[in-house]
Amino acid sequence: MYQEAINNYLKRTGQEALRLRAVLFDMDGVLFDSMPYHADAWAEVMNRHGLRFTREEAFLHEGRTGAATINIAYNRQYGHDAPPELIEQIYAEKSAAFASRPEPGRMPGAPELLRKIQAQDLVPVLVTGSGQRTLLDHLAHHYPGVFAPERMVTAFDVKHGKPDPEPYLMGLQKAGVRANEAVVVENAPIGVQAGHAAGIFTIAVNTGPLDGQVLLNAGADLLFPSMQALCENWEELSRSLSAV
Ligand code: CA
Repeated sequence: MYQEAINNYLKRTGQEALRLRAVLFDMDGVLFDSMPYHADAWAEVMNRHGLRFTREEAFLHEGRTGAATINIAYNRQYGHDAPPELIEQIYAEKSAAFASRPEPGRMPGAPELLRKIQAQDLVPVLVTGSGQRTLLDHLAHHYPGVFAPERMVTAFDVKHGKPDPEPYLMGLQKAGVRANEAVVVENAPIGVQAGHAAGIFTIAVNTGPLDGQVLLNAGADLLFPSMQALCENWEELSRSLSAV
């Protein structure tokens, strides 16, 4: 069932086989159901400053830096980037708006998938563009003992964020595996682009309101409608990804 996607991956990358040893997880929208709160916060604060920006756009551009996100809306209306002070102010307000919302819960299906992965002795690695220390603490609290600190890539570690492949290349390095020994699990188009560009088999989980085709166009090798669906199909998929 997954063989066609795997064959396409091997052809594209010139690899001979996939031998799964590590699973590289994005955080927001994959491990935590935090994206609706981010999207609400972005739309609310942009609109407060007279900038047109919808919740869906927040999902579409998820993973870009705060400045890049603000400039998408600002450029559209004014034809140039926003002044740095305004960017700083909007981003501070957005962070405050996000922090004032309830703590995001675990994404349904994610805890069980991680249990399966650990039982198979596969190495889970976190690769997030987030630099919010609260969310990282939240990770240690809700997924205790899953992600070793030395197997986490955050905004503090990289020069170039997603869609650059750097975060995922660093994830491979931290896991001590090669590109054909890992898979990426991502929910955002930019994150999928990053996994694809790193030469890693990239699984998209469409946990938000986007059309799944957007994730396939970004370079996803496989698409699941939810983390639960990925979890339910994990045994069969991981067998296919480990076949010699
Ligand atoms: Ca994400």
